[in-house]
Amino acid sequence: MSELNVDPDEIEKFDAIASRWWDSESEFKPLHQINPLRVDYIEMHCKGLSDKKVLDIGCGGGILCEALAQKGSIVSGIDMAEKALKVAKIHLLESKLDIDYLLSTAEDYAAKQSASFDVITCLEMLEHVPDPASVVAAAAKMLKPDGHLFFSTINRNPKSFVLAILGAEYVLNLLPRGTHEYQKFIKPSELASVARANLLQVQDITGMTYNPLTKRYKLARDIDVNYLMYCSFQ
Ligand code: SAH
Repeated sequence: MSELNVDPDEIEKFDAIASRWWDSESEFKPLHQINPLRVDYIEMHCKGLSDKKVLDIGCGGGILCEALAQKGSIVSGIDMAEKALKVAKIHLLESKLDIDYLLSTAEDYAAKQSASFDVITCLEMLEHVPDPASVVAAAAKMLKPDGHLFFSTINRNPKSFVLAILGAEYVLNLLPRGTHEYQKFIKPSELASVARANLLQVQDITGMTYNPLTKRYKLARDIDVNYLMYCSFQ
């Protein structure tokens, strides 16, 4: 196989904590908390999720996949962390949902799939891969001409360093130390230019902000730290 767009240290990090994916008080608490917000965002822009063929790239333990399947989508999830996928599959026994989980990179999956998904999601994943632009290109290849593509990641600026790394990992202990590396954060302008290079149009960028007093996240205009990006070909 050609060189994979995978950082083994990242996969190891996620595999080490895999058993806690569905513990909503664990290091995955932030993902559980933002999940309803991002599902609403996706559903709103897709104008409904029922019967949509969805691919979730970097699905982890399946938090987003399950929520989308509950909305009636036909969901496939890919990830390179074997243990996360095991947990995702086991959780289907409890949720009684039907989701196709597969160990694959976006690039390898794209070699077999062209223009085949109505919706592709790739959330909180791009900042963990060596070459995020290659994941965007793979996603664009797998998206149907009238499909909807969603990314989320973390902006790169002094404020995001203070809030997403110092704040989240060192002060509030929301995430394990070392979860994120500042250099891997991606500015919305950088992601937008990669999207455009793949003939995608950026339809919307929306922030997700955390209020440490209420301990709640919300969708917001402020895209300085966490943000979602919605793209389509038309
Ligand atoms: N998208 C999920 C999980 C985010 S955590 C959510 O938002 O709920 C990041 C995930 O990306 C982890 O499960 C990790 O294993 C996965 N990942 C990291 N590098 C990857 C790669 N190169 N290919 C596929 N998945 C990857």
